[in-house]
Amino acid sequence: MQREISAGGVVVRKNEGEWWIAAIEPAGEPAAVVLSGKRPWRRAKTVLCLPKGLVDPGEKALEAALREVREETGIVAVPLTKLADIKYTYVRSWGDRERVFKIVTFYLLRYESGEIGNIREEMRIEVARALWMRLEEAPKLLAYRGEKQMARKAMEYLASHPQL
Ligand code: ATP
Repeated sequence: MQREISAGGVVVRKNEGEWWIAAIEPAGEPAAVVLSGKRPWRRAKTVLCLPKGLVDPGEKALEAALREVREETGIVAVPLTKLADIKYTYVRSWGDRERVFKIVTFYLLRYESGEIGNIREEMRIEVARALWMRLEEAPKLLAYRGEKQMARKAMEYLASHPQL
């Protein structure tokens, strides 16, 4: 089985006493096929994810997470703590249709500067948009189980660090 190692960020920002989290809507996610009713129809379902990407050769996971956050959201962030590794397998939809075992290390990061969505033109192939959402809504709004868990972990960390 192929292996992929990625790293990503749960970027949080406090605004008027409330925590917000940066998310992206990947571009070109296949529309969901809805199988109810007389015949299947396609619905452009919004998929919300955390910013992440492959760790480059010679790069540390944290460096990759900060770089991917910058590239995919336009935000410069600083590390607070490592959250966890999430693991999943998927089947490549291109080429040999190989099964891939993937590990993604997620870090809790704090917003420092930049404007969300201010990304390079060539990134728009990967990212349809980047947005802030309320951290407390993230477990519901993020698409994947592992990423929902990262949002919950971030909430726990922030609740136990009220000085932040
Ligand atoms: P990267 O962002 O690490 O460069 P990528 O965009 O090439 O990677 P993934 O985001 O891992 O690849 O997506 C590959 C497949 O896995 C897609 O079908 C996607 O829907 C699915 N996927 C992405 N994240 C998760 C997850 N946390 N849990 C389960 N499946 C996921």
